[in-house]
Amino acid sequence: MRRLLVLALLALSSTAVAAPSPTDTLIAKLLGPTPVLDDLRELTDSIGGRPTGSPAMDKAIDWALARLKAAGADAVRAETYTAPRNWLPRVETAEVTSPRYEAQPAERNQLRTAAMPFSPSTPAAGLEAEVADVGKGDAKSFATAKGKWALVHTEPMRSIDDLFAEYLATPAIVANAKKAGAAGILWMSNRPHRLLYRHNATLDGSMSPIPAAMIEREGAERLARLLEAGKRVTVRVTLAVDVQEHASDRNVVAEITGRDKPGEVILLGAHLDSWDLGRGALDNGCNAALAIDVLRQLAVLAKAGQRPRRTIRIGLFSGEEFGLYGSWQDVRAHRADLDKLRAVVIYDEGTGRTTGFSLGGRGELGPVVDRALAPVAGLGPFVHTTDAFVGTDNYDYLLEGVPNLVANQDGPPYLPDYHAESDTFDKVDTRELKANAAIAGALVWALADGDTLPAPRQSRAQVQAVLKATGLDTQMKTFSLWDEFATSKRGRQ
Ligand SMILES: [Zn+2]
Repeated sequence: MRRLLVLALLALSSTAVAAPSPTDTLIAKLLGPTPVLDDLRELTDSIGGRPTGSPAMDKAIDWALARLKAAGADAVRAETYTAPRNWLPRVETAEVTSPRYEAQPAERNQLRTAAMPFSPSTPAAGLEAEVADVGKGDAKSFATAKGKWALVHTEPMRSIDDLFAEYLATPAIVANAKKAGAAGILWMSNRPHRLLYRHNATLDGSMSPIPAAMIEREGAERLARLLEAGKRVTVRVTLAVDVQEHASDRNVVAEITGRDKPGEVILLGAHLDSWDLGRGALDNGCNAALAIDVLRQLAVLAKAGQRPRRTIRIGLFSGEEFGLYGSWQDVRAHRADLDKLRAVVIYDEGTGRTTGFSLGGRGELGPVVDRALAPVAGLGPFVHTTDAFVGTDNYDYLLEGVPNLVANQDGPPYLPDYHAESDTFDKVDTRELKANAAIAGALVWALADGDTLPAPRQSRAQVQAVLKATGLDTQMKTFSLWDEFATSKRGRQ
């Protein structure tokens, strides 16, 4: 009886709560039918791969501006900046010139190949040279590599840790190759089935000192076997690349104005650019589409008179793949306003389930994020991490002391196609994409609407403490990014 009464009271109270909260409305809208997949299909199947500075990226930017206007944003604009350098490959071929397959069609001597980002061109007729197997590429393995193509072995990439280990090892290998006077570097693809991808060798945007190309794993393994058998192996690699120094690039920005503190901003960011071999579906078209969808549903709420206290800004960055150009330049161009940029949320790991957020080394953000995610707790569980890394567009906000969050997402569905030819629309997990949009929407709404700020902006000393505590300082040194922070060229002044 008593139990029944309680149930009746509960039923009464739930019918008495007539209007759902704006957060619940936003979540329901994002989980319901929206054009997010139509957007992503256009971006990937019609526009395709979009390296910054390419005609495809220009088209993608114009498309995004139009979509955000149609979505009903209060403000939409492209922000132009000068990037250090754009790099676009034009010709990429490789061929084994000795020993040749004698009883095979000539094309069987070709190797599938992709220029490494920021490789210079070879001579127009190609660079033909002997191959030296340098194994994992430590300094002494380069002893016989002078004037030769240095073949570097890679481990098959099976986890994010493998990927990071490879990124971390790469700068030293490039330095060893240059020191040894190698003619160029041939990187073995870290994925099987002749799959190619575009892989940054350096993160500082500097040009490679010597030509460098990735070659299909199977072809590279064969070269290694031939060399092991004592054969003299020669290859001819032809690379032609276009380099635009001090290029003019654009970010896309859209806003829903806050009702109470319009000058204070919560930024939801995702990069719009991609490498060119695939179609940039998982990296990162899906999350650009996610951000557009969140803006679109926020605009519907705003029209109905429901706005968060602070402004929510969507940032679709360019130049991320080249070296986080767009977010870096956003910070530089708006340094005077960074005190009012209250938090940054970045999505850049495909459509894997959101498992929590990387807090950029700031544990105090954990409870804030948990409170914000309470309305979408059913899409969790969410476990946050206090790591900090260089690898996506939160980096420069972190260096500026702005509270920054990166969605931690399930890695396995993302990795096989990472930066590869196979990063296409069919890899997208629609269900998780919708769930991630709801999570992102709930998070930015709560941050924008809260009475209190997520956390204060950090001083330079506090940023330095985060870099040290998280080991990000070591990463920055490995990637040649430390000096620009140390000399205040980049980061909190
Ligand atoms: Zn990405």
